[in-house]
Amino acid sequence: MRKALIKNQSGYNEICFEIPQEGLTAEERKSHLEAFKSYIDVQKAHCLGYQVNQQMDYKEDMEHFLNCHLNNVGDPFVDSNYSLSSKQMEKAVLNYYARLWNAKVPHDPQDIESFWGYVLSMGSTEGNFYGLWNARDYLAGRKLVADELQKKLRDTNYLHPKHIVDKPHAYTPIAFFSQDTHYSIIKAMRVLSISTFSEVGHAVYPGQNPLDPSGNWLKTKDVPSMDGNTGPGSIDVDKLAILVEFFTEKNYPIIICCNYGSTFKGAYDDVEEIQNKLMPIFEKYGLVNRDVHYHDLDEEGNEIVKVDTRNGYWIHVDGALGASYMPFVEMAYNKKLIGHKGPNFDFRLPIVNSIVMSGHKWPGSPCPCGIFMTKVKYQLSPPSDPEYIASPDSTFAGSRNGFSPVIMWNYLAKHSYEIQMQRALYCEELSKYAEDQLSILKNYHPETELFIGRTPLALTVRFRKPIKPIIDKYSLSCESLKVDGNVRHYAHIYIMPSTRKEIIDQLVDDLKEREAFKDCGDKILFVNKINYGEILIK
Ligand SMILES: *Cc1c(COP(=O)(O)O)cnc(C)c1O
Repeated sequence: MRKALIKNQSGYNEICFEIPQEGLTAEERKSHLEAFKSYIDVQKAHCLGYQVNQQMDYKEDMEHFLNCHLNNVGDPFVDSNYSLSSKQMEKAVLNYYARLWNAKVPHDPQDIESFWGYVLSMGSTEGNFYGLWNARDYLAGRKLVADELQKKLRDTNYLHPKHIVDKPHAYTPIAFFSQDTHYSIIKAMRVLSISTFSEVGHAVYPGQNPLDPSGNWLKTKDVPSMDGNTGPGSIDVDKLAILVEFFTEKNYPIIICCNYGSTFKGAYDDVEEIQNKLMPIFEKYGLVNRDVHYHDLDEEGNEIVKVDTRNGYWIHVDGALGASYMPFVEMAYNKKLIGHKGPNFDFRLPIVNSIVMSGHKWPGSPCPCGIFMTKVKYQLSPPSDPEYIASPDSTFAGSRNGFSPVIMWNYLAKHSYEIQMQRALYCEELSKYAEDQLSILKNYHPETELFIGRTPLALTVRFRKPIKPIIDKYSLSCESLKVDGNVRHYAHIYIMPSTRKEIIDQLVDDLKEREAFKDCGDKILFVNKINYGEILIK
């Protein structure tokens, strides 16, 4: 049987979490849960490496719902026959974020300019999948909810637009995203069979990469970030524009994934600059309000061609952390409480098609959750219409987590704009403090380059990867970046509303140790000086 060792102040306690056929006695079960609890509590208090707010007080308000199966199956705006749902709260949460992101509220299925969205069962990963699916099928000419409203065509005729002989790629979207993009986007490309620009370039236009002197595409797998791996982590918009023009000239429709708060460096892609640089290109090559032609039959059964008008580009904003937090920085900026704000990213920019954010990052939640949002005019018509649930199957999942909307509703009801603005200011200040404190470490490690860096307005500070006990103690996340042919191993910390100054001080103290950055593989050094909770499975 597998044993678990839980380390506490006095050493290790050995605990076995395996479940025998007869289950465990109530006593055994309780003691195991206690041990797990103590491990989680210690780790929670030290967690610095991930952008998840640990400051939560849901217990009192939410307890009751742990014994209910809340399921928001189907569309948030259409009740299903399963009535144990939290769709009323889900709609309120969506309205809240629609206002925060300057979309047209309320959702009205008859008003194609109004917003549509839903609360995710997963985090932004699901939102990225959904957004890219929506993008792919919109650009490929699949049927939209708006087409249905206008009763334009028979259903089946929307499966594929009429092939255009001299524009063979007109309905084959290709995707652009920067080297700092989250891995969920790359996974979504694979699952959805969306080609990236470099794959298409390599296969169809070898030797023609406009960014590479030799024309090789393999060196430009993603759109470069500003100043590469030593830069701030935001996309290089000029290089993006060069790549986009290369492909729009060849009539490909375009998907752009913007980062709004990139995962490792916390960088904000300048979506407004992207709009300014790309719209003239989209206009020049006929991607704005392009006509999409479909075969249809008239009353007498003669073949005719019908036309639908839609854009040939899709701009998706992955705002996992930034989309829920930066609006409050902007409020503070407008009140002159802070000297800078992030670039615009929301529905004020007409170029934006979809936005996602994670509920467990800035707001904080016991389970992953988040928001996907677009406009009615871009919404896909669901592939099928299951009578079984009596609500359109317009989301990604079937059964949808109905607990998350209650969590998010409770959070928003409890934390006013004012409170969230204060939290944003607190995090900004503490991030600066962390950067300053980490910089002091240079005096303790004069021989070692520590790579300390913070992107403007980011809530994360990066530095050289320390030894494993320190990574484990603070749950640090790590990434390796290639700089001038050499690999640099980084770690970073994220400053969230739950982060306390004392923990940063503790980390800095641990990092002052002579061996803190020693390249020691998995060998454990000075571990006895560190108190931390851990479970070791033997
Ligand atoms: C965290 C993150 C994601 C994934 O979000 P999950 O909530 O973990 O699914 C996507 N994009 C970015 C930029 C992120 O930081």
